[in-house]
Amino acid sequence: MLTLTATLAEPEHFSLVEKLLLVVLVAASAAGFWRRFGVVLHKILKSKKDPSFHLFPIGKRVWDFVCEVLFQTKVIRQRPLPGLAHAFVFWGFCAFALVTLNHFAVGLGLGFLNPAGFFGRFYTYFAAVFAIACAAGIFGLFVRRFLVRPKWLGKKLSWESGFIAFLIFLLMVTYLASFFVGDADPATRILWWVHSLAILIFLAIIPHTKHLHLILSPATVFLSRGGFSQIPPLVGDEDFGLIAGTDLTRLASLQAYSCVECGRCTEHCPAANTGKLLNPKEIILGLRSYLNDLGPASEEPLLGKYNAQEAAFQCTTCGACEFQCPVGIEHLPIIVGLRRGAVNTGAWEDEYGSKLFLALERGANAHGLPASERDKFIEKAGLPIFDGTQEYCLWLGCMGGYDPKGREIIADFARVMNYLGTSFGVLRKEKCCGDPVRRLGNDLVFQQLAESNLEVFEQNKAKKIVSICPHCVRTIQEDWKEFGTPPQVEHHSEFLARHADKLPKQANGESIVFHDPCYLGRYRNVYEQPRTVVGLAGELVEAPRNHERSFCCGAGGGLVFLGEESGERVSKVRAAELVATGAKTVGTACPFCNSMFRDALAEKGECAPQLLDIAQLTARGLTEN
Ligand code: SF4
Ligand code: SF4
Repeated sequence: MLTLTATLAEPEHFSLVEKLLLVVLVAASAAGFWRRFGVVLHKILKSKKDPSFHLFPIGKRVWDFVCEVLFQTKVIRQRPLPGLAHAFVFWGFCAFALVTLNHFAVGLGLGFLNPAGFFGRFYTYFAAVFAIACAAGIFGLFVRRFLVRPKWLGKKLSWESGFIAFLIFLLMVTYLASFFVGDADPATRILWWVHSLAILIFLAIIPHTKHLHLILSPATVFLSRGGFSQIPPLVGDEDFGLIAGTDLTRLASLQAYSCVECGRCTEHCPAANTGKLLNPKEIILGLRSYLNDLGPASEEPLLGKYNAQEAAFQCTTCGACEFQCPVGIEHLPIIVGLRRGAVNTGAWEDEYGSKLFLALERGANAHGLPASERDKFIEKAGLPIFDGTQEYCLWLGCMGGYDPKGREIIADFARVMNYLGTSFGVLRKEKCCGDPVRRLGNDLVFQQLAESNLEVFEQNKAKKIVSICPHCVRTIQEDWKEFGTPPQVEHHSEFLARHADKLPKQANGESIVFHDPCYLGRYRNVYEQPRTVVGLAGELVEAPRNHERSFCCGAGGGLVFLGEESGERVSKVRAAELVATGAKTVGTACPFCNSMFRDALAEKGECAPQLLDIAQLTARGLTEN
């Protein structure tokens, strides 16, 4: 019968032959490790330096590292059960670092952790607790991968994953079993050698498998660009985006090799979920295959055999992939980088894209309408012109200036601002903020628009901007920085929530389902402010996918201006989800979302819920009071 002894058993001595065998096996394992890891490291280091990368300030990096790597917060938060199982395995590895060092030291007669001593006994028991959790975690992950088989993990069963899981399980079991034998027991020696072989095989095969992320992902998280969807500036006259291997930066290569193929990005991708070619996981794996086959010095195009141009231009830049990725992979700089390469080399030929670029180059609005149309609207709506004396500059954006529904939202928001007694004015010469061209990869037009707008702000001495469009807010605040210092900008949800105590509460009991716009939520981390505003107008209802898991409306990344989508329409899928909540009203906080749902809800006929922006929901209360 097995009895638990007080200490972890270790073989009492090792013969010279055993010691020599151990040295040879360790060397063979290290060689197996380096054979692949050396190649990967070489490819990463031979990639182009990231010119805009700055290690400092380092505080945020350390914080992200502690949260995401050491505490595994992202892994657990987004997929609690498998996330916790994964975290147990990771924490088990951390706890075993000292045990493993001591294990091999014992084999060479140099053991430093005495299992009978105070610290040694404490630590071996401490590690035993983690060994149980780790064994349970890896067993759970094995069951999930091989029996539950979520579709995001891919159709093909990964036997390499099964083998790795077996090795980890074996490591934990052999360690725990050593508490049930004595030092002089022959079984102790067998357990010791099986444990050693499992470690050495594991070490040798890690870099040859996707488990390479165990080594690379801590570095990937630590070395991230330091912000969500940070599109690096093009540097110098020779930088046209990601065209060939020579354009891949060290960060991009490091990220390509860090992917653990978990499929979280794909699970949340609106394109992948609506039958399109784009699959963010495959974009990353495509880069990895490119690096494996051709390397970072290759002049072969990145788009073609390894990644399809069509897929790159199906991305709505919703950011769900980047937000979900547990190993810090930044999909958006890569996808926008590929688009830049295709646009700047003329490889992307799209009728709608060309029209959009031309409209923005000549008319400075995405709708291709004459600026006089905007002037007429300003006059008709009685919007004051900004003259430098007002507190706010109300940014109209292309939607607010030219789109009929966008204009209604602006008119209602202006009413609310007047009601609150906030002084504001609109610019006479406002151009598109450049969001669609920025995301579609046309940097030349984006630069023209950003510089021209910055100049107008400078001339008008505007200090504060408020906008109904989260795309404009993001582009002005983050992307314009490349060309100057933008004024302070906020979204109207933030403005309205700040004035919530002065706005009337509509006691009508109307159920309103709020749709989180990607560029307000994931991009700006603004979730509660629009909900506060909705709460004033009725009863807030949550869609099944809400907050940071919100499902895109399909408009972003310039796609709203391009032609018909392939597969199912993203807006249709999201609209159906919103309608299914049974809410009487759909509340939006982005004119693009509003425009997408307008069409999708129209298909529902008379049963469709009404569609209102938060500014309209608020303004509606003003007439009632
Ligand atoms: S940004 Fe959104 S649409 Fe683009 S790949 Fe990521 S999840 Fe898919
Ligand atoms: S890119 Fe990130 S989220 Fe997507 S499969 Fe790879 S590790 Fe998972």
